[in-house]
Amino acid sequence: MRVSFRACFLLLVLGCVPGAPALAADAPAAVPARPPGIAPLPKVTSPRLYVIDCGTLTYNRPEDYQLTREEVADTNMAVPCYLVIHPRGILLFDTGLSDRLVGRPLWENVDGGYGQLRFTTLRGALADIGVTPADITYLAISHSHWDHVGNANDYAGSVWLTQKAELDFMFSDKDQLPYIPLYAALAHARKEVFVGDHDVFGDGTVILKFTPGHTPGHQALYVKLARTGGVVLSGDLWHYAEERTLKRMPKEEETTGTPASRASMERFLEEKHAQLWIGHSTTVFRNLVKSPGWYD
Ligand SMILES: [Zn+2]
Repeated sequence: MRVSFRACFLLLVLGCVPGAPALAADAPAAVPARPPGIAPLPKVTSPRLYVIDCGTLTYNRPEDYQLTREEVADTNMAVPCYLVIHPRGILLFDTGLSDRLVGRPLWENVDGGYGQLRFTTLRGALADIGVTPADITYLAISHSHWDHVGNANDYAGSVWLTQKAELDFMFSDKDQLPYIPLYAALAHARKEVFVGDHDVFGDGTVILKFTPGHTPGHQALYVKLARTGGVVLSGDLWHYAEERTLKRMPKEEETTGTPASRASMERFLEEKHAQLWIGHSTTVFRNLVKSPGWYD
């Protein structure tokens, strides 16, 4: 039986942790034990952001992004997932490359010229933090390309936060058909479907930013942290940092919403004095604190 985060949180407050006094007789009886070796859920009083290594893409065709190899410091791509622990719940943003790639030879996992490397699992990284899939209140994805939804099925027990346009695209666009098995379980997940920006916890600290173009319902995530300040996790609004400095983008995106989404995100970054963390940038990723460390 799945227990919602709110129920878990309440039970933690009541003392339902290993070694704590038993609950009163009228408390819910069937509380699943946490799996062995998983630490208690971290308790927070303000949002905490974890950067999780969800794989690496080896790639050497920056020309697809209208950049030359000389212009790009590193043509490979990091693949992060992010976890936000907020006093009112937990959000997983993107699920990276599939955990099932771990231990498989590289040559088996080349898709469209992208070699997929995976040495650790998302599930294991969450356990290191003290979080199980059942603890996660919300799942959101920046968009439905395969390098962002590799483990989506594992988190279909959470409430899925999705743009209407991405939901429609995921289950009807012909180019997506080969990838539907990666996220098929989301079709039956509880959902909050919206158009435009979405304030996840209702207090302005964690906001999904509608940034269509790369896909019809692409979204970035803004997190306002007490000590670190504002951070934007940009999904694939940019891939390489050099796309931003040299003002380039994939040719096919020039006629989509990407130019307008980038311009509006630049204004938002300035207005909020927020940092931009470009997910696929190995330079950005290399310098970030990875989970189980965090930003708050
Ligand atoms: Zn991507």
